[in-house]
Amino acid sequence: MEKKCLSSLTLAQLTDTMKELGQPAFRAKQIFHWVHQRLVTDFAAMTDQPKTLLAKLDESWYLAVPKIERRQQAKDGTVKYLLRMADGNCIETVVMRYNYGNTVCVSTQVGCRMGCRFCASTQAGRVRNLEAGEICAEIYTAQKDIGARISHIVLMGIGEPLDNYENVMAFLENISSPEGVNIGMRNISLSTCGLVPGIERLAKENLQLTLSVSLHAPNNAIRSGMMPVNDAYPLEVLMPAVRAYQHDTGRRVSFEYSMVRGVNDSAACAHELAALIRGMGAHVNLIPINPVDGSPYSATDAANVRRFQNLLTELGVNATVRRRLGSEISAACGQLRREEMQKNP
Ligand code: SF4
Repeated sequence: MEKKCLSSLTLAQLTDTMKELGQPAFRAKQIFHWVHQRLVTDFAAMTDQPKTLLAKLDESWYLAVPKIERRQQAKDGTVKYLLRMADGNCIETVVMRYNYGNTVCVSTQVGCRMGCRFCASTQAGRVRNLEAGEICAEIYTAQKDIGARISHIVLMGIGEPLDNYENVMAFLENISSPEGVNIGMRNISLSTCGLVPGIERLAKENLQLTLSVSLHAPNNAIRSGMMPVNDAYPLEVLMPAVRAYQHDTGRRVSFEYSMVRGVNDSAACAHELAALIRGMGAHVNLIPINPVDGSPYSATDAANVRRFQNLLTELGVNATVRRRLGSEISAACGQLRREEMQKNP
């Protein structure tokens, strides 16, 4: 029998599991604490649990404990991990040091099937979804490695979070639980390439997280050229869904805009972008892209990024340029995993 991931269970699910095993409900809370608060990596470490129960758990369940396969640290303190999962698949996790706290960028899938043309993570497609517990374990592994609390999370690593909806919801429940590491929803950002059904579903959850939409282009012609998802959910479908999300949740969305030289960085693009998001009070993050091997795209130079930002500001759009953390380590998302896949195909 294939073992299941115990770290993925929500407290309610763990309570049901304990009931099925004939155990009192308080055991569920105790075990949840061991996994999500004390971050143990082994059933044997749960010293207040009966040995018979631990043996039983060990028969059918496993704890998600990724192995740090590679670790790169940049001068600015950014740490990038290549983590190997129990089945041998690798993902990437990044810790960024900001003055407001340590932020982890987590992967949500092994690979990605969204096909964005500037992204290394999608070049070999999607292998599988990550379990909720595996996503939690990215944070726990990073926290233990740097020896400091993680206070913020961005779901912006390998994978499209809304393409792994149930597992991502279970992850959010566990990671924000007061019985666990208790990272507040307001400190969590979920980034999507624009899967409209997922955005509509997420709106109904009414979570206090920040939805961040990877827009990257102000019109369908440019966006479809960069992101195939735009053919399924073009801007005239995506933007009303994003506006509805903002209206229904009362949470301001933000937009990611990767700046690609000669593609989406003209003054005309800034005007179109301002018109597209007018009235939303939304924030735009301008990101000079990290060049990826095999991609036809190169980054807009710093002076042009500044010009684009200033024009947006004049047009009434609040835009900042994302600091390029750790650019001397393979910081483009998916690059480290790709190197590993090339070494060990
Ligand atoms: S940018 Fe995100 S959604 Fe697009 S292919 Fe890469 S991982 Fe997937």
